[in-house]
Amino acid sequence: MYDKTSYMAIYFTHFANASIMPSMFHSRMLIALILAIVAIGGIRVINARTESDVTPLPNTRLSEQRDAIVTQPPGFNKNLYAISDPSSIWVVVNKRRPLSPKTYTPSQLVVPNMPLRLGTGSSEMRVSAAMSAALEQMALAAKKEGANLMLASGYRSYGSQSAIYSSHVKTYGQVSADRQSARPGHSEHQTGLAADLEPSNRACEIAQCFGTLAEGKWLAANAYKYGFIIRYQSDKEAVTGYMYEPWHVRYVGVGLATEMNKQAITTLEEFFGLPAAPGYE
Ligand SMILES: [Zn+2]
Repeated sequence: MYDKTSYMAIYFTHFANASIMPSMFHSRMLIALILAIVAIGGIRVINARTESDVTPLPNTRLSEQRDAIVTQPPGFNKNLYAISDPSSIWVVVNKRRPLSPKTYTPSQLVVPNMPLRLGTGSSEMRVSAAMSAALEQMALAAKKEGANLMLASGYRSYGSQSAIYSSHVKTYGQVSADRQSARPGHSEHQTGLAADLEPSNRACEIAQCFGTLAEGKWLAANAYKYGFIIRYQSDKEAVTGYMYEPWHVRYVGVGLATEMNKQAITTLEEFFGLPAAPGYE
């Protein structure tokens, strides 16, 4: 029967017996052990260097990148993509952050393979190639769960946004128009990274009751898994500058959408610590 003390005693006896073995064996073992420790330490140093060397931090100067490496807590890297470059999937566009240039056009626009409100020749049925596959996958997953999503409006050029905004101003007046439609050069739709979705039967088309439909509920619960956020939440008009739009999704990639969901932060402005944008400056 072993108790702790007798086990230790046996262990030391064994160790002592081993010491009567030839000393050459011991010195070889010792050298091998030292070499192993040095090698493991070296590999760890090399790994640490490689990780920090490959952390991509675009759109920042080298000194800022160095600061970011030092001050960035372990975990989510908020500097992974640029937030001012209109071609970046993290670009933050609002009433205080116009697109630069205001007439920006995405380089690659494609028609996603999913139900479409208009014909494939319509420019509004195109979206950025960066999000097209994610949008298709999301529509497919939603369909499997009984939510039939259709693309109502994707990319809108500076020109077409001008026409939409002017028509809103004519119909509702400027104050009301600014709550629901972006001025040209300030619309996420112009990046190709936003989409207005609706059920394929067009119920609650671009209307807040979309949020109560199976499609709206499915989107609110699942969009983040495909890299999308509901950009204009009902309780965030003071931050985003827009009233509740349960139909308007914005592609930011699975990493950011999942992190925002995890932290329960629903606006890009709050996540990136940017000023609220309730109105134009
Ligand atoms: Zn929209």
